[in-house]
This record gives sequence, C-alpha cells and structure tokens, in this order.
Amino acid sequence: DQTLHSLDPEIAAAVDAELHRQQTTLEMIASENFAPVAVMAAQGSVLTNKYAEGYPGRRYYGGCEHVDVVEQIAIDRVKALFGAEHANVQPHSGAQANAAAMAALLEPGDTILGLDLAHGGHLTHGMRINFSGRLYHVAAYHVDGETGRVDMEEVERLAKEHRPRLIVAGWSAHARHLDFPGFRRIADEVGAHLMVDMAHFAGLVAAGLHPSPVPYADVVTTTTHKTLGGPRGGVILSRAELAKKINSSVFPGQQGGPLEHVIAAKAVAFKIAASPEFRERQERTLEGARILAARLLEPDAAEAGVSVVSGGTDVHLVLVDLRASALDGRQAEDRLHEVGITVNRNAVPDDPRPPMVTSGLRIGTPALATRGFQADDFREVADVIAEALKPDLDERTTAALRTRVAALAAKYPLYAHL
Ligand code: PLP
Repeated sequence: DQTLHSLDPEIAAAVDAELHRQQTTLEMIASENFAPVAVMAAQGSVLTNKYAEGYPGRRYYGGCEHVDVVEQIAIDRVKALFGAEHANVQPHSGAQANAAAMAALLEPGDTILGLDLAHGGHLTHGMRINFSGRLYHVAAYHVDGETGRVDMEEVERLAKEHRPRLIVAGWSAHARHLDFPGFRRIADEVGAHLMVDMAHFAGLVAAGLHPSPVPYADVVTTTTHKTLGGPRGGVILSRAELAKKINSSVFPGQQGGPLEHVIAAKAVAFKIAASPEFRERQERTLEGARILAARLLEPDAAEAGVSVVSGGTDVHLVLVDLRASALDGRQAEDRLHEVGITVNRNAVPDDPRPPMVTSGLRIGTPALATRGFQADDFREVADVIAEALKPDLDERTTAALRTRVAALAAKYPLYAHL
C-alpha cells in the first residue's frame, strides 16, 4: 500500500490537520487563497517526474513532447489574460521571478528604486539582506504619512537624485492603486526601466477590476497563488524585445529544470481566471474589503483606537492602523486567531514598534471570496473583527465571536470531497 496515509502517517496526519484548519477557520491573510481541486490535481500529477530544461520546442532533454504542450498552453493563456507580448511561466516563485527579471535588466552594483519594506514594499524590492539589497544599490521611496498613498513627488525626486537603472512599482501591503502612467513618465525622464510587481493584485487585473500595469511597464512580475488563485509560483511578462534576455535569465541564469506540474497548474488557473465566474469572485473580493474598511472606520472602532491606513481600500486588503489602540499588531493578530480568523500583523507606515510586533494588521478577502462569501457574510465577519479588537474583550464575548466564526465557516464548506 503506497498511499500517503499508510506510507507516511506522520505527514498524512499533519496534512489532514491543515485541511481541517482551513475548513474550520476563516482565512484572511491577504496573500493567500484556496486553489481549486483541478489546480491541485495538475500540481499533484506525473508531470513532477519530468526534466525539461529549456523552453517548448528547444529542450535539453528527450521526451518533452507532452510537457511542451502544457508549457505552451500556459504561456499562451497568460499572454492573452494580461495582453502581454511575452511570458515566462517557469519561475518557481515570486521572489525568483523578481530575481530573474532584475538579473535580465541589471548588472550587480546598479541602482534600483523601490518601495520601502516598512511602507509596504516586498523583500525583493531592495531589502538589505535580500538578494536585491545585496546585489544592487538601493534607494527607497515611501508612502505619504497623511494620505497613506505613494508619494510620487518623492519618487521623482529620488529618481533624479539616484538615477536608478530600474524603478520597481508594486507592494505587499498597500491598499491603493499605483499611478502606473506616473511611474512610466518618471522612468522615461531618468532613462530607467520600469518593473511592476503585481503579485498581490494580479487577479484583480485579470478580471479588469484594477488598472493594468502591462501597457506601462517593461517587465511585469507576479505570483500565481494570491488573488490569482493558482498554485504557488511566479511568472514574468515583458515586451517582446526583452523576451530572450528574460528567458535566459530564468534558465540557465537562475534555475535548472522547470516545475512542469506547477506550470500545468498555472495553465489551469489562467483558464479559470479568464472566466466570468472568476470576475464575479474578484468583485466580491473587492466588495468584502470595502465592507471591512467601512466597518473599521465606524465610531465604535475609532473609540477602540482602530483605524484604516489611507482611509479605505481600492483592492483586496485593508491595512488596519492600531497606533492609537491598546493592542499592538501581535496582540491583535492573537485576538483574531483566538476567535478563528487568521491574519498577519503588519507594520504601518512610520510604525513606532519593531517589525516582530508592529502597530497594524493586514486583512485580506480573496480566500473568503473564493469560499463563496457574499456581502452579508463579509458584513458579519467585519463586525466580528471590529468586536474582537475592542480593548476590554471578556471570555464570554470571545466565545460568542468564536461561535459566529464557526457558523460562517460551516456555511461555506471547503474541499468537501477531500
Ligand atoms: N512580490 C510581492 C509583491 C509579494 O507580496 C510576494 C510574496 O509575498 C512576492 C513577490 C514573493 O513571492 P514568493 O513568496 O512566491 O516568493
């Protein structure tokens, strides 16, 4: 008997426990989602056995006739989905997509200009001990303390001062649209390439519910597992003239054999992302985030010291500002965990607390929208969150909130056939 349960009961038990956790709690980590069973079937397929260094039609291994079909379909679908001239679907992750895109455009020692990690940027946009901060000289722009939006005047000033070879636009914790035409204009003014990392909002772009960076950027990178709802992985889109550089930067520059099983799962996710059902789901994702932001701006939340960075949201997440709250980010994360809601603590711009503690939360709606949540359900979960963040929460109220969360989870069964 070679099944996982009989061969390796320890791992099987942990997998089962994780399934149970996902089914019985409410997942509100903004970067997470639930991959459809068809995506997981592709990812768990025999394609995991195949070596396929190279690209469709030009491989360094025999027997690639079927994985060639898979990879070419993935490429064609993602190009059509985003209107891109070129796509590389091989990056194993978002971080590797960024590493390869940067290596294609830059030499070590070149200057990049990206959003400060503490203001919502990603590690790979120039953090000191990340490859991006070690290989490149980094200048960082910020969000405006008042508006919570990227300070485009500072971007322009820093671009003129540092003359970066690459400007990176994109974020991991930010709730507003970026000004892609503005970034393009500044990049052109200083002769820089523009790379947009749309990892977080790619699903919204695919659905036509967020401005697309593709017409403005030289290179667009993304993950496939966040709003896009596919397998964990990365993709690079670019203009046609950069195709060769990007491809050779991914392989052999950064990676060996591509994960064709994951590429198959990406292809399935791109097919789903082109459907009307996907668009409807992204609409509910956005509506849920707006409902949550509105609830956390009501007077009783303000009284509890809770507010929302930038005063609302354009996307799938809300950045909660706890600087005036009795709870710090870690305590707030624990509070929500106690009632069955999973989120992550997150620095707010100019956070007075250290990164392991923080004064904020990042709360996202993609996973719950995938689960089927409607506006009324988002109103209910938003109310639970607002109540859970009140300073004087007692054991009885906590138990009542836990019951309300369990009812929402039970209303939308997840992976019922697994
Ligand atoms: N880019 C952005 C904007 C992200 O938020 C993330 C993930 O958090 C990444 C890249 C990295 O993706 P991965 O975790 O797949 O390496």
